[in-house]
Amino acid sequence: MLERERHRSLAPGSTIGVFGSGQLGRMLAMEARRMGYGIHTYSPERNSPTGQIADREFTGAYDDAASVRAFARSVDALTFEFENVPSLAADLGEAEGALVRPAGAILYAAQNRLREKSMLSKAGLPTTTYRGVSSLSDLREAVQCVGLPAILKTAAFGYDGKGQCRIADDRGLEGAWDALGGQPSVLEAEVNFEKELSLVVARGEAGDFAAYPLVENRHVNHILDITVAPAEVQPEVCAEAESLARQLCEFLGLIGVVCIEFFLLPSLRESARNGVSEGRKGGRLLINEIAPRPHNSGHWTIEGAVTSQFEQQLRTVCGLGVGSTEQLRPAAMVNLLGDLWHRGEPDWQELLSIANAKLHLYGKGEARPGRKMGHITVTAATAAAALETGLAARAALKRS
Ligand code: AMP
Repeated sequence: MLERERHRSLAPGSTIGVFGSGQLGRMLAMEARRMGYGIHTYSPERNSPTGQIADREFTGAYDDAASVRAFARSVDALTFEFENVPSLAADLGEAEGALVRPAGAILYAAQNRLREKSMLSKAGLPTTTYRGVSSLSDLREAVQCVGLPAILKTAAFGYDGKGQCRIADDRGLEGAWDALGGQPSVLEAEVNFEKELSLVVARGEAGDFAAYPLVENRHVNHILDITVAPAEVQPEVCAEAESLARQLCEFLGLIGVVCIEFFLLPSLRESARNGVSEGRKGGRLLINEIAPRPHNSGHWTIEGAVTSQFEQQLRTVCGLGVGSTEQLRPAAMVNLLGDLWHRGEPDWQELLSIANAKLHLYGKGEARPGRKMGHITVTAATAAAALETGLAARAALKRS
């Protein structure tokens, strides 16, 4: 059925269901509650970060059809907060009459790196040079096209650098293949990037579109560490990112929020080396990956923009117009990983005494190393000043 025929905008008082129950669902739930919407969550967890805020927490496996149907019947619209929800769950939700946004087909493309990359190539968007690999002999062949060094990534269920292995030279092939358990994978050329950037955009059902400022991300151990908003890049780079994002949203017919992660190549010559065979000529951006939902690199929008990325998710799911993405103040976001809890609960005193630093904790019981437990957002007169304060605030926690 065409989206247009199904149009109904959901006013406050309606109930939204979110598949997944982590911090992204939690921040969506907070916005939903602020705006007078009901919110239900579904995941295999109990007392989850989202469930602590939601009106109802459904607990069940994503492939438990009866439970998923009961959840879908309890809400007016469905969305998701991470892409590894089986698309069957989205299909079941739709069959129960709930609006599913973004569409299950988009979820399906985004949850597998190979499907995602071939979708991007079909859309004419520039990606790293890649080849799909399903055996060691495929891997040997792929290396001939992609070159070395390269990164082997499992096609499914990879996030925060999990399921990745760098291959420096020919001797590393077998080891990398074994390290990833011989699973269907993607071999990507290692990109010599200048910066990692990302862009969060929202697109409504009427095709209305708005982009936040382009931001810079820095990773540690493949996990996002900090985001600086806006990124310090030339205006042409921002224009290129926005135009690629529009192209992607139009191609997908997306209704929702999407984050696009880019590698900024140091020069046009470098882009010719990396991108010519897979994408558009002449640009400096390659798409690393997309996430059809709010993203860690967009958390700063809660304090730093007129409309947060979570309100945009709610707005697009409910068929309301897209809100203003205007940035109110330069901002920096600093992640708080479980490692900070190695001597018990950190002492929050010093951080809380910084007037322009905002603490977010996700209500997770167990602090494991590498687990995202919270973040700090700082707004300031410049993004560099915001970052300095954010890093100092986190350093004080490390000393505590
Ligand atoms: P991903 O899970 O694909 O987002 O990868 C996590 C991080 O690994 C990225 O943010 C980059 O810092 C790094 N990375 C991933 N793919 C590549 C690549 N092809 N070339 C260079 N660095 C990469």
